[in-house]
Amino acid sequence: MIDSQEQKPSYPKPYKPKTQEPRPQSCQHIKILDCNRPISRVFFECYHCRQGLLTECKGESAVQEFKVTCPTCGKTAIYLMTSEIVSTTAIPSPWDR
Ligand SMILES: [Zn+2]
Repeated sequence: MIDSQEQKPSYPKPYKPKTQEPRPQSCQHIKILDCNRPISRVFFECYHCRQGLLTECKGESAVQEFKVTCPTCGKTAIYLMTSEIVSTTAIPSPWDR
């Protein structure tokens, strides 16, 4: 059963809106990969400028809320629930329109 796709790892929640900033749009794109590994990769778009971003998160449980700052516009790109943010990199948006 090691390859079971039915397991539910405790992966980081994509965002958790706070009151001091605009709520992320419901259509904000996000994609989480490797959520059952020590380092998970979160692809998303900046809420403000739609810059494609890749954030690597360490830890298996969502213990703390992090504001991920967009390297392009300097605003809060997204909120992530995770243990530790390893890095955030600007990438071409996977959802480029
Ligand atoms: Zn931005």
